[in-house]
Amino acid sequence: SQDDSQQGIKEYKLEKDSELRFEVETDEIVELRLKEGLAEVFGTELLKSRVYKFTSLAKVAVYTWHGCSLNLKGKTEVAYISRDTPMTVYLNTHAALEQMRQQAEQEGTRGPRVMVIGPTDVGKSTVCRLLLNYAVRVGRRPTFVDIDVGQGVISVPGTIGALLIERPADIEEGFSLAGPLVYHFGATTPGANLKLYTLLVSSMAEVFNKRCMTNQRASVSGCVINTCGWIKGDGYKCITHAAKAFEVDVIVVLDQERLYNELVRDMPSFVKVVLQQKSGGVVERTRAFRSTARDSRIREYFYGFENCFYPHSFEVRFSDVEIFKIGAPAVPNSCLPLGMTPEDNQTKLVAVQPSNELSHHLLSVSLAKSKEDDLLKTNVAGFVCVTHVDMDRRVFTVLSPAPRPLPRRYLLLSEVQFMDLHQ
Ligand code: ATP
Repeated sequence: SQDDSQQGIKEYKLEKDSELRFEVETDEIVELRLKEGLAEVFGTELLKSRVYKFTSLAKVAVYTWHGCSLNLKGKTEVAYISRDTPMTVYLNTHAALEQMRQQAEQEGTRGPRVMVIGPTDVGKSTVCRLLLNYAVRVGRRPTFVDIDVGQGVISVPGTIGALLIERPADIEEGFSLAGPLVYHFGATTPGANLKLYTLLVSSMAEVFNKRCMTNQRASVSGCVINTCGWIKGDGYKCITHAAKAFEVDVIVVLDQERLYNELVRDMPSFVKVVLQQKSGGVVERTRAFRSTARDSRIREYFYGFENCFYPHSFEVRFSDVEIFKIGAPAVPNSCLPLGMTPEDNQTKLVAVQPSNELSHHLLSVSLAKSKEDDLLKTNVAGFVCVTHVDMDRRVFTVLSPAPRPLPRRYLLLSEVQFMDLHQ
């Protein structure tokens, strides 16, 4: 109506099996409203007459199976309707997985473990979100495993995590992050420490297996594994290692025929490898955008979605903590003690003396109670960011989601840095 257009509201009418794609401009907010019919955002249904707000740089697709009309208000970078989407293919994947779950239920076995792989910017995280949402909407409790240390969605960059999904993702905020299992890796590419990466993936698979032994519903529901876009050379080895560790049944390869062929060749025949097209809506992101996205994940960890948390800032005495880095610098073979290989160095705990170099780094707060606990394979309680180091008073200041004191003594140093511009 004229009234609507005066307020900058635009209406879109979608036919069945089509989607409205839009991107929010920098520092803008776009409001979305469903007026008629049914629609979903990455597998979560929209409620009628609720207003959904999307912030700076969000890239969204509102899909409808049956047709709908939508309103958008605010400045979009682009906004267009596409009728060419792979949603039917993704729904069929869900249907096949659901059949496997029903079979597992009847036979008392475990449900499907799916891994989604492909190069960067093909929509891997989005396909994971879809499959998890569809599973939870039919009453399942799938586990989301995120081994993408670069652009993970469960925790901050430089970690891998697992999360039991109990309700569909929130349209604006994504999955509820209550009680995830998180391991410290300390860098944003698996290549930074391959031995540690594979060790953590194996360890996460063991924990998931144990959970499946005691939780029948989780076992039958299976898991969906999100991976990083590094698919060549050692990246490929990381993929095949994760597939083995989790004993995956299905691998969805997005948009890479060569990778698909390699996996068909290398995977045992009981692993079903499928090649699927990527959505034309997935937007390519530049290196700079990725780095901004990493930053905003960390910001969100401390400040909450739309700054709804107030993080704490407090001093920690050097004497109250022990900081470690995982992995000693590589040294030539000839310099290693007898019987040690260069790889052994990669999983060595190296004590770090506090210094100004800690500034802006993230520290993972390990849940280990004593040094006898395996610090590598112990999950973390959370993270703090070092904002200042005072060498004279032998204290450093941290930004922390929880008030003082730190719950444990052992901290693991991450390469990942964060500049807190709020301060
Ligand atoms: P990475 O390699 O960084 O892990 P990815 O392959 O997991 O990336 P996604 O994060 O799933 O890719 O998608 C990239 C971006 O595209 C996201 O911002 C997502 O919201 C957006 N996107 C996904 N599907 C669509 C679509 N159909 N229309 C519009 N935007 C989309």
